[in-house]
Amino acid sequence: MSRSAHPAGPRHADVLPEGHYTAPPADLNALDPKVWAETVTRDDQGVLTVGGIDVRRLAEEFGTPAYVLDETDFRSRARAWRTAFGQDADVFYAGKAFLSRAVVRWLHEEGLNLDVCSGGELATALSAGMPADRIAFHGNNKSVAEIRRAVEAGVGRIVLDSFQEIVRVAHIAQELGKRQRVQIRVTVGVEAHTHEFIATAHEDQKFGIPLAGGQAAEAVRRALRLDGIELIGIHSHIGSQIFDMSGFEVAAHRVVGLLKEIRDEHGVELPEIDLGGGLGIAYTSDDDPREPHEIAKALTEIVTRECESARLRTPRISVEPGRAVVGPTAFTLYEVGTIKPLDHLRTYVSVDGGMSDNIRTALYDAEYSIALVSRSSDAEPMLTRVVGKHCESGDIVVRDAFLPADLAPGDLVAVPATGAYCRSMASNYNHVLRPPVVAVRDGEARVIVRRETEEDLLRLDVG
Ligand SMILES: *Cc1c(COP(=O)(O)O)cnc(C)c1O
Repeated sequence: MSRSAHPAGPRHADVLPEGHYTAPPADLNALDPKVWAETVTRDDQGVLTVGGIDVRRLAEEFGTPAYVLDETDFRSRARAWRTAFGQDADVFYAGKAFLSRAVVRWLHEEGLNLDVCSGGELATALSAGMPADRIAFHGNNKSVAEIRRAVEAGVGRIVLDSFQEIVRVAHIAQELGKRQRVQIRVTVGVEAHTHEFIATAHEDQKFGIPLAGGQAAEAVRRALRLDGIELIGIHSHIGSQIFDMSGFEVAAHRVVGLLKEIRDEHGVELPEIDLGGGLGIAYTSDDDPREPHEIAKALTEIVTRECESARLRTPRISVEPGRAVVGPTAFTLYEVGTIKPLDHLRTYVSVDGGMSDNIRTALYDAEYSIALVSRSSDAEPMLTRVVGKHCESGDIVVRDAFLPADLAPGDLVAVPATGAYCRSMASNYNHVLRPPVVAVRDGEARVIVRRETEEDLLRLDVG
């Protein structure tokens, strides 16, 4: 096995352990625009910049690890979704992907609505001035207190997820002298993930009310009888990180089938249909997500066609992208700490964060890419596994990654496409402090969620 001056570990040519990688990329310094935020580029010295700012400066000023969010990219993605769906549809950003007050203001300014699924998310949305009637409240087990707060605030819709909740929301609204607009979330027997969808018995999960066996039709029957609620539509969310539109096709077909049943039984044509979120993004160069305008066109055509054949007026469509809006807009900036070559396996590169700032690799076997960003390098590629600093061997950030063989402690590396489900799922495991979110735009950087401090940790620990 070849060795360089730096103990770089195994090369691609000899024994390769099992993994998800193919060949090393032709140019390790290249930045695939599919996975990096819009304003990311390398300067003349090969240093990565975002919004015109050098990442070394960001690391110096804000420390590492840090989530660096490209505000220009966030706004243009939000606008692309809004424009694609036009005035006859609504785009609800799924706040669980990443929510902060700055994000709420951007969404408001760009004309998007907002999905929340807890009292905390609702509080964040309201405190940043999102009009309540542009908020949808989700969740399979909303507490009575959360429902009361949502109804009092006047949220645009509550998405009902169980038989108990139909009665609960109606009762609370009535107590408050209100009539709450609601949708019923149904499970259509379709589950979609990435490139596949399965249209069989996927009702075995906690969300929604099954269409199968007439349960959803019964939920509609009950909802229509209650004065405290106004049933405005049916909701379906089929999965996550979806590229294949055929799952939506089947879902729309089945939801429209229910709308037709409702029309036939009650003489009511519900005015709205929500097809949920789940649209995929590129985590690595192997992923090919569709543009919002293609998705809008496909979904609108599916619903229109299904409604025409059922002789129904086409309802107002809404969608709920989370990942597809925020995911690609941020990268996580880490500093390399230790480098450990393992003979015949690979080189372990440890960074100053890990599963506490990105649980997705451990939780979902998610794939990410990574690049050396504080400089460029002409060294040959070495196969690495990028790991964190936690006391857990599953603490992996990027399972299989090629990095230049001259990588050294103190180098900065960045993992792109960490805008969604990273900060929002971050933990304090090992009492590691959660990183800040730094928003960058037009040569300026500002903290929108600050780094957690030891003081924050100790304040919760009341002895
Ligand atoms: C999670 C979720 C979304 C957003 O999913 P993404 O994969 O981030 O687009 C939308 N709607 C509902 C009901 C969800 O639970």
